[in-house]
Amino acid sequence: MKNTTGQDRSVTAAWRPATQAVRAGTWRSEHGETSEALFLNSGYTYDSAQTVADRFAGEAPGMVYSRMQNPTTQMLEDRIAALEGAEACRVQATGMAAMSAAMLAHLSAGDHIVAGKAAFGSCRWIVDNLLPRFGIEGTTIDARDNAAWEAAIRPNTKMFFFETPANPTMDVVDLAHVCGLARAHGITTLVDNAFASPVLQRPMEFGADIVAYSATKLMDGQGRVLAGALCASEQWITDVLMPFQRNTGPILAPFNAWVVLKGLETLDLRARRQSENALEVARFLEGRGVEVLYPGLPSHPQHDLAMRQMVAAGPIFACYMDGQEQAMGLLDALQLIDISNNIGDSKSLMCHPATTTHYNMGPEGRADAGVSDGMLRLNVGLEDPLDLIADLDQALNRIGR
Ligand SMILES: *Cc1c(COP(=O)(O)O)cnc(C)c1O
Repeated sequence: MKNTTGQDRSVTAAWRPATQAVRAGTWRSEHGETSEALFLNSGYTYDSAQTVADRFAGEAPGMVYSRMQNPTTQMLEDRIAALEGAEACRVQATGMAAMSAAMLAHLSAGDHIVAGKAAFGSCRWIVDNLLPRFGIEGTTIDARDNAAWEAAIRPNTKMFFFETPANPTMDVVDLAHVCGLARAHGITTLVDNAFASPVLQRPMEFGADIVAYSATKLMDGQGRVLAGALCASEQWITDVLMPFQRNTGPILAPFNAWVVLKGLETLDLRARRQSENALEVARFLEGRGVEVLYPGLPSHPQHDLAMRQMVAAGPIFACYMDGQEQAMGLLDALQLIDISNNIGDSKSLMCHPATTTHYNMGPEGRADAGVSDGMLRLNVGLEDPLDLIADLDQALNRIGR
């Protein structure tokens, strides 16, 4: 079957991810431009009144309005779908637009969702505060615990939602077990794969139904735009997501889609190199007597599971100082690594989750999600790891550790 961008999907699907990340979804105009074109248009014109009538009736292919389709966003959607091994993808304005659209489109009053406790703060807010206002109950569990998933299932459970590795505690979820359990009970799994990207982990290979992204993270990876994506079956995208998306409008803008397209060309390189760098920096810190939680290290309690389902452990890990004062002291002593709460970036960035990304949860919420006052989160970038190690070493010396 030809995809909407003119490529033959049976050809692009056979390519390896590094090839797909550079070429899948590319749709050249009559000019034959090398790089993907940026279509900054909101609407379309038609050669006849019947043409547009047929398109609105869904009886002819073609675009009608950029809230639904745009050539640049569609190139990105086809590229992400190919990378994910998914039937279809729709991009969203931000990662949170993707997460909220997936839940609000799929769930109705009277439904129940089970979600991992350790999660991005806004994901927890949707489950804990937004969904209950619409009569959707949520249960949050320790997502590492396979038995806890089973115990939380109710007759009206419609969705499992989790991240792996999770932000910022680096909890790893057993994808094959949890997705298999969901399948057996007719429950849809929504996996937030932002920490890994499809280069490092492909949850659908383990039975996930919907894979959601903050494409702001590794996919753009250069700190430029916010973006999100949802990958799923053609049927879920068409029947469940699209009625919600076309009427509520969370679509990604074409310019941002174009930036992410260019980001994807280097995704494979960046994700692998940043994982290598992260491992080297994590090993240094551990050798320096700092407690580190990184699925790529044998000291991580779920190291074996992580390495079974991931190609490499990614750029992000948590490490621990003795309390908030020392953690903030280390941040203030850094000379190269930036204090910043973003992740997946090619620049190394470090933050104190308890006072930033997870501040809104309050002390009880943080205790529940495993975010302690001494915890720091480090995103390791593309700099020479020896320079990053030297920076951390001098900062640790300055705070007397
Ligand atoms: C950043 C992030 C999000 C939110 O994505 P935005 O693009 O910032 O809206 C969701 N989940 C995880 C795991 C994230 O790291």
